[in-house]
Amino acid sequence: MRLNALFSAIFAAAAITASAAVPKVIAHRGHWVPAGSAQNSIRSIVKADSINCFGSEFDVWSTSDGVLVVNHDRKFGGLVIEESPAEKVLAITLPNGEKLPTLDQYLDAAKDLDVKLICEMKAHSNPKTDIEAAKKIVKAINSKGLTERTEYITFSRPGLEELIKLAPNNPTYYLSGGLSPAELKNLGAAGADYHINEFRKNPQWIKEAHDLGLKINIWTVDDEADMKWCIDNGADFITTNQPERLFRLLW
Ligand code: MG
Repeated sequence: MRLNALFSAIFAAAAITASAAVPKVIAHRGHWVPAGSAQNSIRSIVKADSINCFGSEFDVWSTSDGVLVVNHDRKFGGLVIEESPAEKVLAITLPNGEKLPTLDQYLDAAKDLDVKLICEMKAHSNPKTDIEAAKKIVKAINSKGLTERTEYITFSRPGLEELIKLAPNNPTYYLSGGLSPAELKNLGAAGADYHINEFRKNPQWIKEAHDLGLKINIWTVDDEADMKWCIDNGADFITTNQPERLFRLLW
């Protein structure tokens, strides 16, 4: 009898484990923590792939002459990227010794990998630049044969709507917060990719999103307690600067 009770408990625990979704790990700006890597470097996406992250996030700006480059900061190496010509921006050296990459170079390196491309289009000062950049980004992804491996994210509301229009079969997520799952669904977004505080303020959005068939991605989660909160609350994806720490919690 006691043995039966023990087996029941084990099966019940296994059933709970089997039904709980395990969040997928996205490396924020690539996996840049190891020596020799750097945020948004080509090395960082190679490293994210090497530890089997689901996705590797990276940021795309347009230069003043319309060349797409990969970097996070609006101002980097003394230049405001969107106000500077490509010739100057591409001369910047990253902390790991690589040159700041063009999107083309980044995608060429990604072709040899398996990791999903979580492509963030930065919000430019002029929304018209977002629209132009969105067109060029989608064209670049598609022409490199990376359509199936790409998900788009952006803080730009006009950019979001343009990306959804241009790439209706790619998941596209909104980063800014403030829109409910129902509003995101109406726009055609795949879900909410919000800061953890946005979900702490609106925890009901997670279930609402799932009920609408949308996904939840939470950023940027580096602290173990925050990681556990995301796991316990049903995040589909967790974006982190510490993917190896998150893997240790999930395994
Ligand atoms: Mg980003």
